[in-house]
Amino acid sequence: MSNISLSLEEIFILAKNVFFKNGCDEETSNIMADLVMKAERDGSLSHGLFRVPAYVSGLKSGKINGKSSPDIKIISASVVKANGNNCLAPVVLNKSIPELIKLAKENGVAILSITNSHHMAAMWPETEIIAEQGLVAIACTSYKPAVAPAGSIKPLFGTNPISFAWPRKNKPPVVFDMATASMAMGEVQVAKREGHKVPLGTGLTKEGKDTMDPAEIADGGVLLPFGGYKGSGIAMMVELLAGALVGDNFSYETAEKDNNDGGPPSGGEFILAISPDKLSDTDWDTHSSKFFDKMKSMGDVRLPGERRHKNRLDKGPRYINEDLVNKIKSLN
Ligand code: NDP
Repeated sequence: MSNISLSLEEIFILAKNVFFKNGCDEETSNIMADLVMKAERDGSLSHGLFRVPAYVSGLKSGKINGKSSPDIKIISASVVKANGNNCLAPVVLNKSIPELIKLAKENGVAILSITNSHHMAAMWPETEIIAEQGLVAIACTSYKPAVAPAGSIKPLFGTNPISFAWPRKNKPPVVFDMATASMAMGEVQVAKREGHKVPLGTGLTKEGKDTMDPAEIADGGVLLPFGGYKGSGIAMMVELLAGALVGDNFSYETAEKDNNDGGPPSGGEFILAISPDKLSDTDWDTHSSKFFDKMKSMGDVRLPGERRHKNRLDKGPRYINEDLVNKIKSLN
């Protein structure tokens, strides 16, 4: 396997051209290329250029509308509803998060409920941007069944990511963003592509046996939730928040309706924003900074998000799998 060197600008242009030539309008192409470039910049490798061919499959089949835009409604002082009208989730987020931020700042708390949009991206871009505005954020989304509930060997949950971001004055937010599967399927696919093993407990073969071979999990096997029945409970919570609560599908319903073109299916997303300025009458920033300092003083501890933020400081080229780059170029 060989890598080629691409500047962040070249990554943006490569992605933008492909989105534009495959049915996205200028605005959608820019939003998607920016997302892909930022994922590569931060080292979110399973959600950068690696995802472009799948997005293109969804655009080519007509499942995703690259020229659509969401309908955004303010339902009450604390609820924003965005119907994605089959556009890509980053486009919906781009247009609806400013409304969420405004309501949360005014009223202390606000929820953004997203339906009918196509999510396949990392979740930190949405929580981080909310926390950069001084708000606490929680976001989650479901997908198609890939994860067995505790006690089963058959998939029901998506890999159901959840992200949490905590604002800090004069510092980047503290952000975690994780699949509730023991490993994101994207990471399993990267391990398969690169020929690495995965830890035991990541998933089962199609016969329900433990395996360290990512191919056996990705091709017909099943992922396990992290942390046994505890992770299973959190994955269930994500199904409920991003499904029944926002008024969209559970993962198994998504799979029943999807055309299986390989692109991200239509689904919902739940985002909560909370204003610590409104809730806390203490100096919450100093208080939480002391907590983070204490945490970091306790051995080999790092804060979630620190790896990405460190990567972000490097403005130099990124080294991308050559086969992947050629595949993306062939989609032009
Ligand atoms: P990881 O397990 O790599 O990381 C999860 C979180 O833990 C990150 O915030 C990471 O921060 C943090 N972290 C990792 N190692 C440490 C450590 N040693 N100490 C403290 N914090 C640590 O992520 P996943 O594989 O679970 O998920 C990868 C991506 O896949 C996510 O962005 C997720 O949103 C996305 N995803 C999207 C789906 C979708 O349908 N849209 C489905 C499933 C996953 P850091 O980044 O700084 O390393």
